[in-house]
Amino acid sequence: MSERTEREIQADLDEELNEEEQLAIDEAVAASDDETVVPRGRGSFPLVPLREIVIFPEMVAPLKVGRDKSVAAIRAAAAAGGWIALVTQREPEQEEITSVDQLHAMGTLAKIAQVVNLPDGTLRAVVQGQRRLKVKSLDTTGAALMLKGSIVETPEVTGVEVEALMRSVQAQVETYVTSGAPVPPEAAVAAKNISDPGLLADMTAYTPDMTTEQRQELLETIDVVARLKYVASFLSRQIEILEIKGKIQSDVRSEMDKSQREYFLREQLKAIQRELGEEDPQQAETNELREKVEASGMPEEIKSRALKELDRMSRIPSASPEVGVIRTYVDWLISMPWNVATEDRIEIKEAAKVLADDHYGLEKVKERIIEYLAVRKLAPQVKSPILCFAGPPGVGKTSLGKSIARAMGRKFVRMSLGGLHDEAEIRGHRRTYIGALPGRIVQGIKQAGTKNPVFMLDEIDKLGADFRGDPSSALLEVLDPEQNATFQDNYLEVEFDLSQVLFVATANQLDTIPAPLRDRMEIIQIPGYTEAEKVQIAKRYILPKQRENHGLTEAQAIVPDDTLVHLIRHYTREAGVRNAEREIATVMRKLARAVAEKKGRKPEVDIKRLATWLGPERHEYGEMDNDDQIGSATGLVVTPVGGDVVTVEVGVMEGREELILTGQLGDVMKESARAALTWIKAHGAELGIAPERFEKSGLHIHVPAGAIPKDGPSAGVTMATAIVSALTGIPVRKEVAMTGEITLRGRVLPIGGLKSKSLAAHASGARVVLIPKKNEKDLPEIPEEIRKSLKIIPVETIGQVLEHALRRKPKPLPANHGTPRPPRIPVRSPSASGRPS
Ligand code: ADP
Repeated sequence: MSERTEREIQADLDEELNEEEQLAIDEAVAASDDETVVPRGRGSFPLVPLREIVIFPEMVAPLKVGRDKSVAAIRAAAAAGGWIALVTQREPEQEEITSVDQLHAMGTLAKIAQVVNLPDGTLRAVVQGQRRLKVKSLDTTGAALMLKGSIVETPEVTGVEVEALMRSVQAQVETYVTSGAPVPPEAAVAAKNISDPGLLADMTAYTPDMTTEQRQELLETIDVVARLKYVASFLSRQIEILEIKGKIQSDVRSEMDKSQREYFLREQLKAIQRELGEEDPQQAETNELREKVEASGMPEEIKSRALKELDRMSRIPSASPEVGVIRTYVDWLISMPWNVATEDRIEIKEAAKVLADDHYGLEKVKERIIEYLAVRKLAPQVKSPILCFAGPPGVGKTSLGKSIARAMGRKFVRMSLGGLHDEAEIRGHRRTYIGALPGRIVQGIKQAGTKNPVFMLDEIDKLGADFRGDPSSALLEVLDPEQNATFQDNYLEVEFDLSQVLFVATANQLDTIPAPLRDRMEIIQIPGYTEAEKVQIAKRYILPKQRENHGLTEAQAIVPDDTLVHLIRHYTREAGVRNAEREIATVMRKLARAVAEKKGRKPEVDIKRLATWLGPERHEYGEMDNDDQIGSATGLVVTPVGGDVVTVEVGVMEGREELILTGQLGDVMKESARAALTWIKAHGAELGIAPERFEKSGLHIHVPAGAIPKDGPSAGVTMATAIVSALTGIPVRKEVAMTGEITLRGRVLPIGGLKSKSLAAHASGARVVLIPKKNEKDLPEIPEEIRKSLKIIPVETIGQVLEHALRRKPKPLPANHGTPRPPRIPVRSPSASGRPS
């Protein structure tokens, strides 16, 4: 018999019976029924040593026989009545049995039922066990091994104990089979039908669960009671094993799905790691964050929120992107200044000093800020309005905000609202969005690091609104003292108290600020500086600041006043001082380099050096036309960057009547042009323009600097003047600048932004400025020095405008040249009166 595993042999027993063998077995079983005469007492039998199997009495089994001596034994036995000894060897691997010690002490005497010679010289035999055979001695001298042994007779046993044991074993077999034992289900029925207690016990050896050792032990147990007990204990253990196995399987199947199982195992793993002191990095991180949360001094409900998130984080696999999301969120909660505030110190005198230290001029503005601070000091609980500094860039709006913060001892943060369309920019994105962040308000507060900073909302006039929601309504909520104590950011999901924040806003233009927002604010206008003011600001503030920024001493950087004037006149053109500051910084940089290189240059910056360092002059000073022009007039307008002069040009095209307008004019400006033309047509006779002239000529009105959109009604008078000049050929006086809205009846209506406009007129070199009579009340706005250098003439009608602007008075047409008919058009209501243009 070749080496094989027990299972394989068992499989042989179960399956490998061919038809012939099955027949032999059936015959053997039948023969046993009719009392085969079994030898008794001692005897000597040919021996086949078994490697991994144990044959029991009454067991019919096929044997593969390969070893020479075993083949000889089968042959010898078959020749001598078929009796053969089958004894299991102690070492299954042993090839040749040379001594009796190499065999177990108990074997089986069997009868050969059939022998089949196989082509390879081996045999297949079907044997049927008959009696236990006690091994005595071995004769190894012959061709076959001969075993001497004594046949064990089993006495019939009866009695209650045996009966009880038998029933118990039968019941066990049944349980064993139904619990999923690897035996055919008929085994239970077969066991029930066995009346011989010894046979019942031996039958158990059929199960593959039994090992060769156990089988051998069973074979060696001669006492039937002991044998039944052995089997009972074996079965009960097997049943237990099967039950546990079943339980594990059903537990696993029904109670846990895969993920639960993983979670359970991971928890165990963590517990073990904790015991071993080997924390995983995620655990360590969660713990660290937990400590930070505890130490952050955040309010209780927010703390519990953060801890809950951390619990969640420790439960999800570290590879999940969710971990990062939670980490960022908790970091935000930790870094918010929930309870950090600076203490306000408002000493009015001190504040006034801070404002004066930082800013030149702006007396009214400073005064208003001081009043504002005084009210806050006396009644901190009263909700004060939000200050909004309105004016062109570079006039000091931001720096006023910074000064307020400095005067109060608060932190300062600035957030630009320019181009902001999305409500979520203010209020944050929900955390379900990838890459979600808190809104700008929360970001600003975090940046300030205190809950009561001075928070500047820059460019509030540039706020947009579209399908993504209206940011101005979110902003309203932020600014509303009734609501902002419980401001809720979409990302943070918890409330943050903004009521301690001092909001200030800035704007370039007022008319684009959403009305509800404007209502919340107190507007402080800063229109721009005169040249003299700019020079003072440059000299007293910008120059020392930039000197310091570049590490230069006063002696190393000398910029005389006339250089500053030249710089402001020819290198900047602005209402504020931003570009002036930039140019001065350039000059300081060049000086610093010269000092560092020890070039021994003189520290003084004259106009010549300015040209080498800053390049050719960029702006003509006093850019008025040098000669009187026909069809061209100078108007004054207000743009987002301050007051400015515009030239309105009118060209006459022979042919047919038409009106062309170019130069990016807004609707209001186009309407002004039409209104001007209508008035002129109606008054053609007085102005000396024949009606045919209108019919046969097209007018092209152009306002240069086309890249800049222009709008507003205040160019009405300028257009009228330029058209009259073009049609009559009378030149416009070059030193005159004008502003005013017109009606169809020729009245001049008031305009806004007089101060900015007068600054622009002055800077451009105009000497005469025509303003609407109704604006006379605003004259005190205009700085003294400018009022002195300009001739300001209030006018009420276009007739008066033309009188001052045209070089000569137009000659009316002779009386017979048709009578002009006054237009029958309803008077346009001065709806735009007071509207800044
Ligand atoms: P804005 O916010 O109005 O655009 P900034 O506050 O940024 O202008 O001012 C630009 C620069 O000009 C800053 O360096 C500021 O200190 C300076 N500045 C503006 N106005 C004054 C002033 N009245 N006195 C002193 N410095 C000024």
